Order: sequence, then structure tokens, then C-alpha cells
Amino acid sequence: MITVSHLSKTYINPDGSQLTVLKDINCEIQPGEVISLIGPSGTGKSTFLRALNLLDPPTGGSIIFNGEDILQKGYPVHKMRQKMGMVFQSFNLFDHMTVLENVMYAPCKIKKTPLEKAREEGLQLLRKVGLAEKADVYPSSLSGGQKQRVAIARCLAMQPEVILFDEPTSALDPTMVGEVLSVIRQLAKEGMTMLIVTHEMKFARDVSTRIFFMYDGYIHEDGTPKQIFENPKRSATKAFVQRIRKEVFEVDGNEFDFLDMESRIRQFCIKYNIAAKSDKAVDLCQLMLSGPMASYVPMTVRITHSELSEDTALDFMVEGLETSPLKEAKMQEIRNQCREIVEEPTSRGFRVKLRID
Ligand code: ADP
Ligand code: MG
Repeated sequence: MITVSHLSKTYINPDGSQLTVLKDINCEIQPGEVISLIGPSGTGKSTFLRALNLLDPPTGGSIIFNGEDILQKGYPVHKMRQKMGMVFQSFNLFDHMTVLENVMYAPCKIKKTPLEKAREEGLQLLRKVGLAEKADVYPSSLSGGQKQRVAIARCLAMQPEVILFDEPTSALDPTMVGEVLSVIRQLAKEGMTMLIVTHEMKFARDVSTRIFFMYDGYIHEDGTPKQIFENPKRSATKAFVQRIRKEVFEVDGNEFDFLDMESRIRQFCIKYNIAAKSDKAVDLCQLMLSGPMASYVPMTVRITHSELSEDTALDFMVEGLETSPLKEAKMQEIRNQCREIVEEPTSRGFRVKLRID
């Protein structure tokens, strides 16, 4: 369906300096494939999607779409865009139109679909994304998750052959990520061809037929989700998929700001989509710092989370300590809230790790 060869993109900065974001991108995309583009930010994932549908034309290479070279002079770009839909992080709905009008607009304007037919199809698409009852309201009254579902319905209204999603859930409150991902999952089941830039690793693993890991201007590694996540060949891929997120606190005495720690733990949990664990993490810190660990100062506390394994843990580390500070008598409440407690000496002291679900 799409063949990309030696695609490159160089930006010229206002000061005349150049930045080559895409160096040499090569790939082939078959109908029905669901490809997730993952990689550190700034590695050109958005640039690649924008190059594909010529929002931001590449500076070199070729893109063949359905047998046609879309970079040739005089190629009808608007025709191609009808077949290659795009959904953005920031929804880009028309605020002065109702939800249904947003969905009907392009079919009426561009495809000249009769009004009644466009309305009927629009309502059907809104039903598909679970928003039929919002047809007549304005986007401003919708939540972020609802807006993004409208944006997907609007994209589907043009009956695209492929949809490009650029971080469709990054601008959303974590509670709304799921509703958008389930619409995309449904499209995948129906066989829609999709390229999805996402930071949702679990979603990428579940939904994709292939993963592209973008790094340093190249598709550094591509493979099935199983290959990329469980058995990455290249070290940069491995480092990216196995990375562990962490936030560290130095507990240094009575003036330690527990409220600040609590709010940073909560922010951490929201950022990495484990908001459901935040109450437990905060409770456990409080219990540990006021209970078994109360007399150990200074101490380093850490919350860690692996997106790949979805393991979340709290570490309490005391330098120079040789035996576990935990006393069984004080532990029942803490034990009840943990999946596992690991007590282990480290090179510099002792660590108590609480694994939480
Ligand atoms: P990603 O989506 O992987 O985070 P982007 O494709 O947005 O990365 O950006 C890749 C690099 O290209 C970044 O360094 C960014 O600053 C730069 N870049 C993106 N768009 C432009 C632009 N219009 N002009 C100049 N530089 C840009
Ligand atoms: Mg981006």
C-alpha cells in the first residue's frame, strides 16, 4: 500500500543552520497492518507522519502510495489526503460547528455527499465511537476523550484507506486514554490500516502487527511486538523498551516535606498511567516513614515503574545499614498492601523494596 524509500527531511533553521531529522527511512506497509511508531521524543516520529501525507514534504526519497509516486510534480495532494486520514494529538475540531457538523463537513464539502446521506453516515460514525447522543452539541462541551473520538469519526467519514495517528492520547487526562484506545483497537479488529505514534507501550504491544523503533533519523529496528519488546536486537531499542521510570526523594530529617513528596508521587503515577496505584503508593510511603523506617535518616526513597513489565515498586534505601530495618510486629498493614516485599543488602547499604499492584 505504501512504499517508502530513502526518505529524508532536513529543516533549515532561521539562523541558517540545518537539522536533518529523517536520514534514510525505508519501509513497506501492507493493507491491514497496524504499525506503532515508538522512540524517544525528538526522533522524528511526527515528522515522518507529516512527510507521509505531505503536510511537511520530505526533502529526499520517494513515497509510493497505491502504486503512485506522491512526490511527483503535479500529484493531486488533496486526493491522497482523502485516502490517508490523520488524527492529531490536539483534536483540531471546528469549535463553531456541532459534533455532527464536524463529521459531515469534509464529505459534504470535498466529496459532495448529499446532506441527508452525510448526516446519516455521520450519525452512524458517531454511534460507532459511542457519541451519538452528542451529535448536536458543540465540541467545547466535550471532554478531551470525547473530542478525540469525534476527531476519529470525522477522519473515518472520508473513508480513508489508512489512518495516521500522532500521539492520539498524549493530550488526554489519564482517565480518558482508555476510551480512545478502545476505538482504535476496534478499528484494528476491522482491518483498518494504521500508523500510530504512541507512548502507550502496552497498547502498542497489544494492538500492533509491527513496531517501528525510530532513533537517530532511522527506523532503527522493526519487528513484531514480541520481537521488539521481548527480544530487541539493538541496544538502543533495548534501552528504550526496558527503561524504568523513576522519581527519587532524599529524606533528610524532620523538615522533609512529605506533602511535596506526596504530590510528586501522584504526578508520577499520572504521568505513567498508573493513577490507580497512587493512593496505595502514598499510603505505603506514609506507613513506612512513620513506622518501620521512622528512625532511618538520611534515607533515599524511590518510586520506579517499568512500562514493559508494568511493575511498580517503592524502594527505601539506607546507606551503611547491614540488616533489614523491618520488624515483623509493625508490618501487617504494610504487608497487606504489597504484592511482595524484598529485603536485600546492596553495595552501599540496605534496601527494602515494596512491589505494588
Ligand atoms: P517526535 O515526534 O519524534 O518527538 P518530531 O518529528 O516532532 O519528533 O521532531 C524531530 C526534530 O525535528 C526535533 O528536534 C524538532 O525540534 C525538529 N523539528 C520539528 N519540526 C520542525 C520545524 N518545523 N522546523 C524546524 N525543526 C523542526
Ligand atoms: Mg511527535
